[in-house]
Amino acid sequence: MEQNLIIAKNIKTGEVVEFATQKEATDYFKGIYGDKIRNSNVVAMLKQKTAYKGIWEVNYIGDGKITRTCKHCGKKFKTRRDQQVFCSNVCREDYHPVKIQGAKEKELIHKLVTMLAPYRTAK
Ligand SMILES: [Zn+2]
Repeated sequence: MEQNLIIAKNIKTGEVVEFATQKEATDYFKGIYGDKIRNSNVVAMLKQKTAYKGIWEVNYIGDGKITRTCKHCGKKFKTRRDQQVFCSNVCREDYHPVKIQGAKEKELIHKLVTMLAPYRTAK
């Protein structure tokens, strides 16, 4: 089971709700304030020092990152992004190899990949 990422406290009622993802939080606030609530609202709530609408204190739990296992290399990594399943761009690209037909294109892509490797692994 995944750890929870976000905690929202209703400072009027004392109610506390936890969410595993930003999407969960977005859906919860949609349930209260309607469809005008978007993911960007939740991101704004997380950045705000003051309570949202004077009611909701929304914060990350811990460092606010989810620990995941990379779908490609199996390494554990931390992310704030709901959708991220790979530890790095290198793993994402290796998991979905580009389908290349011609030898010429293959050579060109290899050249490019080699050239860009230091940038792709840089943190
Ligand atoms: Zn990986």
